[in-house]
Amino acid sequence: MNVRADSTAATLKIRRDVLSMTMSESLDELKTLLAQVDDLGKAAAVLSWDQQSYMPPGGAPARASQLATLSRLSHEQFTDERVGRLLDDLAYETRDLPYDDDTASLARVVKRDYEKAIRLPSAFVAELAEASGLGTTAWARARSENNWAGFQDHLKRMIELKQREAEYIGYQDRVYDALLDSYEPDMKTSQVAEIFQGVRRELVPLVRAIVENADRVDDAALYRSYDPEGQWALAQQALSAIGYDFERGRMDRAPHPFCTSFSNHDVRVTNRILPNFFNSAFYGALHEGGHALYELGSPDRFERTGLGGGTSLSVHESQSRMWENLVGRSRPFWQYFFPKFRKAFRKNSADMDAEKMYRAVSAVKPSFIRVEADEVTYSLHVMLRFEAENLMLENKLNVSDLPSWWDEAMSSYLGVTPPDVAHGALQDVHWSMGLYGYFPTYSLGTILSAQLFEKARETLADMDEQFARGEFTPLREWLTDNIYRHARKFTLNELAVRITGEPLQTRSYIAYLKQKYTELYGLT
Ligand code: ZN
Repeated sequence: MNVRADSTAATLKIRRDVLSMTMSESLDELKTLLAQVDDLGKAAAVLSWDQQSYMPPGGAPARASQLATLSRLSHEQFTDERVGRLLDDLAYETRDLPYDDDTASLARVVKRDYEKAIRLPSAFVAELAEASGLGTTAWARARSENNWAGFQDHLKRMIELKQREAEYIGYQDRVYDALLDSYEPDMKTSQVAEIFQGVRRELVPLVRAIVENADRVDDAALYRSYDPEGQWALAQQALSAIGYDFERGRMDRAPHPFCTSFSNHDVRVTNRILPNFFNSAFYGALHEGGHALYELGSPDRFERTGLGGGTSLSVHESQSRMWENLVGRSRPFWQYFFPKFRKAFRKNSADMDAEKMYRAVSAVKPSFIRVEADEVTYSLHVMLRFEAENLMLENKLNVSDLPSWWDEAMSSYLGVTPPDVAHGALQDVHWSMGLYGYFPTYSLGTILSAQLFEKARETLADMDEQFARGEFTPLREWLTDNIYRHARKFTLNELAVRITGEPLQTRSYIAYLKQKYTELYGLT
């Protein structure tokens, strides 16, 4: 049990003050304060969702101020001394309760957030939010105009802000440690580097072997012209099939697909359509749908407490990648879904069948765009960003040099060079929003997804038959029981150990990729 037994004189004095209240009184007061903080955060999420979907460009400056005000207010409320005292008291009161007890978990998890938040001055948080608002709008324009110069000053400013943030938070080893911890508590840069190195060692020869046999899988059908409305409708069908509830969510157009939660009864996804590439909208929907199922599965009793929602970004990503790839790119999934595809796109599907579709959507092709990357090369895109972020944050790479650095790295990691900066360093929204230390969680989550799925397959013995019949409820219920219902109670490794008996490991992921792609490409 790691509830800290704080015994400084000052804390004891405070504790006596709080102890005169009963535990339920102080818990009620804490919950009231946390509910307000949560409301402010969710209101900001609505504004941010609108900014990225419907807001006209002219709204950008005012929206940036609104978001800055909301994040300052929420930060001020949360970092109030009273919250700290109530949390100390709660930690003390719950010290003998089981680790997974709701109240003990609330004390532990919210205290971790609190201790990090008090290190950042509210004025800095507002500054960051404003820069993020302006940066996102500048990024969207720069990307559509394919113009690096329109974005680089915003990026430079954001790097400086994140360096300051890391100084406020503190770190022992690398600047990056301070930032990574916000998305993946307890994970260190050196651990990520080691995991990535191990995976890269296995992936590079696999990619090479596949590229040499590229003609064995034909994915030309995916690049035909697909009517955007038909694509949208099919993406909605895919979401419904996996159990996304349109009474508690909706899908809207945005330049970058994402999922955002306003409560566990209103979880939105966004998506984009490429008229000449089937995978973009379809797998975008399954991916964001996987995130959404996790948020929708968070229990009502954790709402507005700070304990609701997904526990960390990697665990979140394990859910999106599971539905996108381990389910959506499986043979049984297409045995079920192919007739729907055929109905939606008669002309394009005339020469296709379920097996050909399974093979086409699984095709491996080194390419420029991360969100459209295949299962095997995906992590290489992430590793490149992990490296770039570290270099920029440690002042070893100037933002003006990023596009050329990017092209060289793409060529060495994947053997391809982007045609322009929109397909290169400008493709992702993350850095414009201040999300540094976020990218590695995509790969850590992908690695975790295979570990979890292996366990699910063991428990649900006939999972393939279920998928082939369009039955995704058993898997969703397994995930609810093992992951969703715990919301933020456990960290990645705590969950992995509870579910699979061991912390995050790369063995299942590598085994899955090798098995699937050795068969698919007839490798020996
Ligand atoms: Zn995701």
